[in-house]
Amino acid sequence: MRKGHRITAIICAAGRGSRAGFEKNKLLVPFMGANALYYSVKAFYGIADEIVVACSPCDMQEVGAICAHFGAKTVTGGERRTDSVYSALKVADGDIVLIHDGARPFVTGKQIERCIDDTLIYGSSVTACPATDTVAIACGDKISSVPPRADVYNVQTPQGFLYDDIKAAYDRAVADGGTFTDDASVYCSYVAPAHISDSGSQANKKLTFGEDFSSPFPPLPPLQKGYSAGIGIDVHTFGKAQSYVVLCGAKIPCDSGLVAHSDGDVAAHAVTDAVLSAAGLKDIGTYFPDTDPAYCGADSMALLKKATRAAESAGFRVVSLSLAIQAEKPRIKAHIDEMKHNLSLATGADQRRIAVGAGTCEGLGFVGEGLGICAYCCAVLEEIEQHG
Ligand code: MG
Repeated sequence: MRKGHRITAIICAAGRGSRAGFEKNKLLVPFMGANALYYSVKAFYGIADEIVVACSPCDMQEVGAICAHFGAKTVTGGERRTDSVYSALKVADGDIVLIHDGARPFVTGKQIERCIDDTLIYGSSVTACPATDTVAIACGDKISSVPPRADVYNVQTPQGFLYDDIKAAYDRAVADGGTFTDDASVYCSYVAPAHISDSGSQANKKLTFGEDFSSPFPPLPPLQKGYSAGIGIDVHTFGKAQSYVVLCGAKIPCDSGLVAHSDGDVAAHAVTDAVLSAAGLKDIGTYFPDTDPAYCGADSMALLKKATRAAESAGFRVVSLSLAIQAEKPRIKAHIDEMKHNLSLATGADQRRIAVGAGTCEGLGFVGEGLGICAYCCAVLEEIEQHG
């Protein structure tokens, strides 16, 4: 978004990506918790005033769902990249157009901003990085020339142009029926030599082959504050012939016990799940399955201790817990200090940063009818400083 200018980002997603070997469009296969197209569109969100994604009719529904997150438009792309970009140009209303390959999800905001800046200064901007390999021009199977490496760049996207220039170039390219692999080639053929912006990077790679999708590259940036929060919820039903329930290790008199494979400590289970969640680990059932005889009648506070160790191995320590319990019975209030003490021992969190609240459900629902107890917990963990 630039004062006095309207920026349109065009994202090409109409290719099949057959070299990646997937059964569907490579941009839509699961990748880093979403898919490549999601990250490519997201990169322009908040920078471009308008985002237009060109895709095949068969992907329209899936691409439309991604675009809806970012207020982006879709257009039907064509057989060739040139046709897809041309379709998008016809609906674009920016005076500056940035054209980007959907298969480059790692493009940074800085690279996009530089592309806009250089387009405003030079009339065009091709994101590129200096070649590290020597490049040979072939004639058949013989090298005909080797350009000086200093003159060779690997061309990436985004590529930025003034709308009127690139639209005029594409009008002619489409009329001529030529084949172009990128927009700079179209621009150079019909308008002028495009400006090289040396803001490209190895990280801004194009996902091409199947193996490109298997490594999380580049790694996620570290959390800014070094804190992470997680939530855990658990429910257990009454019905065990027992004169008490166990909540955070405290034995509280009750006319019925909670049914469970373990000791039924519903509160400890919620805390355990919150801690595991904040550490980015899997849930309690994954580590302590209720089908494993080893956990029959298990002390749930001991399991919470184990989960805390697992979180520490993942690089996090528990600093704060907020636990809320809903129960018609038993009366919990008198046991809260003991519960906090037990939680502090199990997790290492300072008792002043542990809160335990309890309430009824006003007679509503399964809790209100006295059928079971429900517990909710939010855990805050801090990153442990790595030494050496
Ligand atoms: Mg449970």
